[in-house]
Amino acid sequence: MKSVLIANRGEIAVRIIRACRELGLRSIAVYSEADRQAPHVLLADEAYLLGPAPSAESYLRVDRLLEVARRAGADAIHPGYGFLAERAAFAGAVAEAGFIFVGPTADTISAMGDKTEARRRMEAAGVPIVPGITHPLESGAEARRISDEIGYPVLLKAAAGGGGKGMRVVERSEDVERAFDGAAREAQGAFGDGAVYVEKYLGRPRHIEIQLLGDTHGNIVHLAERECSIQRRHQKLVEEAPSPVLDEAGRAAMGDAAIRAARAVDYTGAGTVEFLWQDGEFYFLEMNTRIQVEHPVTELVTGVDLVQWQLRVAAGEAIPFADGSGVPVTGHAIECRITSEDAEEGFLPSTGRIDHLEIPQGPGVRWDGGIRTGFEVGLHYDPLLGKLICYAPTRLEAIDRMARALEEFQLRGVSSCAAFHRRVMAEPAFRSGELSIRYLEERPELTRRPTLDADERRDVAALAVLLEAEYRKSREAPRMDGDGGGRPLSHWQQRFAATQAGR
Ligand code: ADP
Repeated sequence: MKSVLIANRGEIAVRIIRACRELGLRSIAVYSEADRQAPHVLLADEAYLLGPAPSAESYLRVDRLLEVARRAGADAIHPGYGFLAERAAFAGAVAEAGFIFVGPTADTISAMGDKTEARRRMEAAGVPIVPGITHPLESGAEARRISDEIGYPVLLKAAAGGGGKGMRVVERSEDVERAFDGAAREAQGAFGDGAVYVEKYLGRPRHIEIQLLGDTHGNIVHLAERECSIQRRHQKLVEEAPSPVLDEAGRAAMGDAAIRAARAVDYTGAGTVEFLWQDGEFYFLEMNTRIQVEHPVTELVTGVDLVQWQLRVAAGEAIPFADGSGVPVTGHAIECRITSEDAEEGFLPSTGRIDHLEIPQGPGVRWDGGIRTGFEVGLHYDPLLGKLICYAPTRLEAIDRMARALEEFQLRGVSSCAAFHRRVMAEPAFRSGELSIRYLEERPELTRRPTLDADERRDVAALAVLLEAEYRKSREAPRMDGDGGGRPLSHWQQRFAATQAGR
């Protein structure tokens, strides 16, 4: 294996290109018309246009991807996450065309892609599942009868689900049938498969998941857990490793269950088994048969480069740390997803040209990004701009480091949720590790614009006057690039003005 086509975009494409470069593999990028100037295109060894901006006409075009792979002489195809990463038919088509698919086999993907089938297999393998059924519901009436048996609240879920689509929480028997129709319709629209099942809706669980890595020699190891309880509409926003609640015994039990789950489907490559944890008990939620957005926190606490290892096991290498002694965890890592969303406006997606970007630096700070100055953020793709990841010896030190890094983060031209993350880092329950998937729901103030008291308003007014003066100076300063000036103030200019304002 000497060359890899990366069938993705954004930060994960950049991440994979970096791993390729470190391993001496030729990287082949693909892009849509909206991504001509995207970092992954500029960074790869080669780049090929797929088609117009909409994903269906570019990143989801299997025929075009295979044609580019042939033309570029690729040996392997890495799907990243999202797009085609969990489509069994894509993995199958890649293998059939004679390329290495960087991930598990099509059979494994399809077994885990259907949540009812995955639940059946997990039950058979002795992995605890969330109480509920393991077959698709036939009708609203059946949904109601079974929900009555399970006891409310229940959760209706799309069998083909992902991204929180086709999910409905139901509190009362009389609402089940309507919710069933809605979930089935949404699932049909999103996945082309209207199958829905029902499980118990747990009260205040935590989302804890186990990272796995399997090779083609029969080795499967776990690389400890990540906690991803801070979510909005069932989508993760902040992740960390290790979980503040799991002790060594808890990790061993969950790790064993995850390995059993993976063995049940002959897993190879990097994958994640997700669980809900409540009062010391844990239940299988689903398995993601791909690299996940939050993989860097695991990389930082284990020292294992997961993306490199995806490529290495795809090339047939055996995992050297699979001797049964376990992969040790050192320190603590936290990741904040920086999305182009306005947290204070209900996470409304924002668009625009990035005209100013400053990435935090210093000890223990990592930025996995997919943007650069001048890049136009549109509405065609996922709003993830990049991930800020901080590592330190202890959890509280990692939180303080993240707060510091977020303060240095500067982005203008498009809204982001960075200010929201700053509020989370300062919030007492988060700092003490008291988390549940209801964390944000229970704290609406974290997604509201903070109000200022009289003193703070005076400070801000003083700062504004000084910033205005700095801004004028920057406009008047001679420019080498012929640009008329008027650039936004840099972090340093703002710090200077703040110092002048006596803060
Ligand atoms: P998707 O594949 O759509 O992302 P998941 O099954 O992975 O859906 O669940 C996503 C999130 O939804 C979980 O992290 C959790 O917050 C919530 N969730 C899922 N199932 C349950 C449940 N039975 N009880 C409570 N919350 C749940």
